Amino acid sequence: MIIKPRIRGFICTTAHPKGCAANVDQQIAYVREQFADAAGSPEGPKRVLVVGASGGYGLSSRIVSAFGYGAQTLGVSFEKPPTAGKTATAGWYNNHAFENRARDAGLYAHTIDGDAFSDELKQQVIEAIRADMGQIDLLVYSLASPVRTHPKTGVTHRSHIKPLGDTYRVKTLNVDKGDVYDVELEPATEEETAGTVAVMGGEDWEFWIDALSEAGVLAQGFKTVSYTYLGSEITWPIYWHATLGKAKEDLDRAAGALRQRLKGLDGDARVVALKAVVTQASSAIPVVPLYMTLLLHVMKKAGLHEDCIHQITRLFLTRLYDGDDVPLDDAERIRLDDWELREDIQAEVKRRWPEITSENLHELADIDGFRHDFLKIFGFGLPGVDYDEDLDPTSTAI
Ligand code: NAD
Repeated sequence: MIIKPRIRGFICTTAHPKGCAANVDQQIAYVREQFADAAGSPEGPKRVLVVGASGGYGLSSRIVSAFGYGAQTLGVSFEKPPTAGKTATAGWYNNHAFENRARDAGLYAHTIDGDAFSDELKQQVIEAIRADMGQIDLLVYSLASPVRTHPKTGVTHRSHIKPLGDTYRVKTLNVDKGDVYDVELEPATEEETAGTVAVMGGEDWEFWIDALSEAGVLAQGFKTVSYTYLGSEITWPIYWHATLGKAKEDLDRAAGALRQRLKGLDGDARVVALKAVVTQASSAIPVVPLYMTLLLHVMKKAGLHEDCIHQITRLFLTRLYDGDDVPLDDAERIRLDDWELREDIQAEVKRRWPEITSENLHELADIDGFRHDFLKIFGFGLPGVDYDEDLDPTSTAI
């Protein structure tokens, strides 16, 4: 099968096995280089669980853990395997490519695909930890999901990406066509806001820690992190001051509660604010792709561009496992969105925001960079990959 990208709105319905593997390889190479440069191999986690491990920030967290610190990693994701004539999801190929590279490097790596919100999957993970790792030193919670079936009530909650209060009229971008146009976003109902908090808030993170703690598989000094986005005035109406922000506020609440519960282990739980990057999750949020194209342009020009792997490498090396006291914000979060929110960067993005149109998109914003990053998520556009090769999409030898 010759695999080409097939884009439908903000999703690509095909994924390239060798391209996904090349993306994993690029990230591993970056991490190896960074850790070779870091004076003396730093102390770090040795047994890591990543929930949401197959793409975006979770995949990068797994790569840094394994190839930076030599950690054993257990990954959880929700990916679709291939069928005859249809490719798997990108995350499925990422998982196989990662496991192959980890095994080649002599590192334990195991992935469990299933619903992270369910009690059954949590039990499966506990059994795998007991059998293969004993205990874990770090849990990275990096889920992004539109839906959650609550394990106690059986109710299926959906998240809604909507503003709060009033209808919000704002510019957005059709990435495929390169059109900048206005959209009206209807405000969320109370039920929709509650649904978003149930899916993307902190309860499931707490359920994970409770289950792992009761099973006795958390090591002394255990740490856990969960990722958030704060953004600036441009994205606040659809993010921080909107349904997603409510869910992320709940994550801050959960972090505080977890810090209390982990005291006995001398453990820690932190929300980490990361920068906006192109991932499957972020591409689906209105306004964000347009903001991102501007941000990419401005940050690249300032020499401050970062992608998932750069952010996570910086998180582990300069914050989580630095040895020194980690600087926290007033909500006790770790901040890695410092460069995105730098005054000069935001001033320039805000200056361009009212001016941006379909006509000057290539001049003021990096639409090509956004498209490149988007296709890369699905394994397309990577150097060294023969995209005319006839491939078996079911092969895991990638
Ligand atoms: P992503 O879409 O790239 O990855 C999401 C992961 O969650 C995948 O591994 C997927 O398989 C897994 N997943 C989804 N539903 C699942 C389920 N039911 N069971 C098991 N696994 C499931 O997402 P991302 O953009 O890397 O986001 C990860 C976290 O980082 C989110 O909390 C997000 O809010 C946060 N974050 C993202 C950005 C950004 O710009 N992308 C910025 C800051 C913070």
